Amino acid sequence: MLNADLHCHSSISDGVLAPGEVAARAKANGVEVWALTDHDEVGGIPEARAAAADLGLIYVPGVEISITWAGETIHIVGLQIDETNETLVQGLAMTRSGRERRAREIAEQLAAAGIPDAFEGALRYVGNPDLISRTHFARYIIELGVCRDVSEVFQRFLTEGKPGFVPHRWATLKEAVTWIRGAGGVAVLAHPGRYKLSEVGLDALLQEFKQYGGVGIEVVTGSHTPDEYETFAKIASQYGFLASRGSDFHAPEESRVDLGALPALPPSLVPVWHDWLI
Ligand code: AMP
Ligand code: MN
Ligand code: MN
Ligand code: MN
Repeated sequence: MLNADLHCHSSISDGVLAPGEVAARAKANGVEVWALTDHDEVGGIPEARAAAADLGLIYVPGVEISITWAGETIHIVGLQIDETNETLVQGLAMTRSGRERRAREIAEQLAAAGIPDAFEGALRYVGNPDLISRTHFARYIIELGVCRDVSEVFQRFLTEGKPGFVPHRWATLKEAVTWIRGAGGVAVLAHPGRYKLSEVGLDALLQEFKQYGGVGIEVVTGSHTPDEYETFAKIASQYGFLASRGSDFHAPEESRVDLGALPALPPSLVPVWHDWLI
């Protein structure tokens, strides 16, 4: 099977490597088809595309859009998008726009919990001032020695019910899928195993996603356990979704799975890239 990695991040969002460095790492790890999918941002695509061309990687322009659905934050990956599409560009700008205010509120809550100067601290890890994320706060909290790794930070801070959690309204499901399709892309539900949804809730999400024109779900991702690969392989077949594969790589040493270093998709599934390489 082709080594496709269709989900990862650069310093344009909450990864630590520049887009060209992510491309080089993907190539070195044996990736053949590659998409950079920064959060709510397409600014890394020109550098990523040029690097991929130099390295001989098949390049797929991508993005990971934050949405709010039934009160939950959900991520929708767009692949094969035209990143210059006006509606998409404006939609992403709108989605990013609340991040700074949210970050100031996160910092206030962290200060009250005994973690000072978190806004400035997080900002030192930010590569794109338009995109300050919880991951940047996590890196600052680790620097302070308060936590050992990112997952400990998220367990103790920044998540619902913990200090540093600020509820936020992102785009809607319909908007994200419509922007992606309008830009000629395909919409893929990112890491469905990560959401705190009941079986009924997940079914409703999948049905609604499909109704708007969503065509794929991530099955093999760095955000799933091997059990979840099986669960979501079954779900992809049941609902007739194409299957995607991506590491969700953010940083060396930080990410559980490196670029390209995932098991293959189960052979019974139709890969999202099935008609891209003809
Ligand atoms: P934000 O878009 O600012 O809400 O930040 C979301 C990002 O935080 C995700 O894309 C992940 O990179 C990271 N993240 C969220 N939850 C966790 C977790 N439990 N462990 C590690 N990283 C997480
Ligand atoms: Mn992230
Ligand atoms: Mn995500
Ligand atoms: Mn991601």
